[in-house]
Amino acid sequence: MNQKKRYIYADNAATSPLSHKAYEAMVPFLVDEFGNASQPYAFARKPKKALQEARAMIADSIGALPEEIFFTSCGTESNNWVIQGAFQQGLHVVTSAIEHHSILRPCTLGDTTIVPVNNDGIVLRDEFCKALEKDERGLVSFMFANNEIGTIEPVGELADVAHHNGWLFHTDAVQAVGHTAINVHEIGVDMLSSSAHKFNGPKGIGFLYKRRGLEWPSLLLGGSQESGHRAGTENVALIVGMAVALQENIDSLQENIIHIQDLEEQLLHGLEKKDIAFHRNGSPNHIVGNISLSFPDEDGEAILHKMDLMGINVSTGSACDSKETQISHVLKAIHLKDKFAKGTIRVSLGRMNTVEDIDKIVSCMNKIIGKH
Ligand code: PLP
Repeated sequence: MNQKKRYIYADNAATSPLSHKAYEAMVPFLVDEFGNASQPYAFARKPKKALQEARAMIADSIGALPEEIFFTSCGTESNNWVIQGAFQQGLHVVTSAIEHHSILRPCTLGDTTIVPVNNDGIVLRDEFCKALEKDERGLVSFMFANNEIGTIEPVGELADVAHHNGWLFHTDAVQAVGHTAINVHEIGVDMLSSSAHKFNGPKGIGFLYKRRGLEWPSLLLGGSQESGHRAGTENVALIVGMAVALQENIDSLQENIIHIQDLEEQLLHGLEKKDIAFHRNGSPNHIVGNISLSFPDEDGEAILHKMDLMGINVSTGSACDSKETQISHVLKAIHLKDKFAKGTIRVSLGRMNTVEDIDKIVSCMNKIIGKH
């Protein structure tokens, strides 16, 4: 981060700062150890070994086997691989109304049923069961945690329902991996998507967990990398950076959660103390630090820009074009009233945020929307 211009970064759900440890681990593979990991000669030995170690570290962090981890270029690719693979096999897809666009857009390419959610963003169980009646088997894809409001879905229970009905289950865990404990066997998912830049890893790298024995058509065709399941020369540096960043986050997971939870409470109490009216979106069970706030009769886009001018980066839940404010599909799906939806911003905190950051955020919000 640029130390000269000290700004407060509070948009960690969009992307997160790269861990220094991860950066240092990447450098040798960007500069000296640039060999192609798939080659048989001695110069490829170090990159090959690094690839194996990274795969094992990542597998271990989610309770998987190394051979169940497939490196991809990002969460979007992992999600597209899953959804497009389902359609290629003629499978019906059931998903939720609040998924990321990297699920919802590919879902427009085939037979899909979209399940609504309640006001907290939790998938409606009855509607889900009704959707499963449409076919004897298919693929269910429900996100582990929502990017806009932080809601954590009861993924284990939803996967049980899917399996009981003979359907496969995928979860988009891009917002959850590295932020909450995940064991793929305990939750019983067949596939899981993840992306490094959401857990202090580098951008442009992610992975797909695919249960051993599950046959799934490839999205990228070409060379025989990733055991013939995902073509393309492996980006060893990014893969190593992803593994080190994930390991670092998992090693201090409880510490991080407590720290971010404290900051979250500081922010909410700070706003209450200033008598600022707000509604917090999402469910009580959420990814810590993902704080979607709706300020009645305010304009989220305007708040974002004013905060930007004050040196604070947050995100909005609605986007203004020249004619009208567009409310996001997630806020629409949770039936948030327009009066609140238009004034929504998302503050997403990470382990690198501090008490001083929160003091500044509260004080700036008070200047923008408070009674001062
Ligand atoms: N899924 C969710 C829930 C996300 O929040 C994002 C990114 O914002 C993605 C998928 C896409 O990940 P990537 O940016 O690595 O393509």
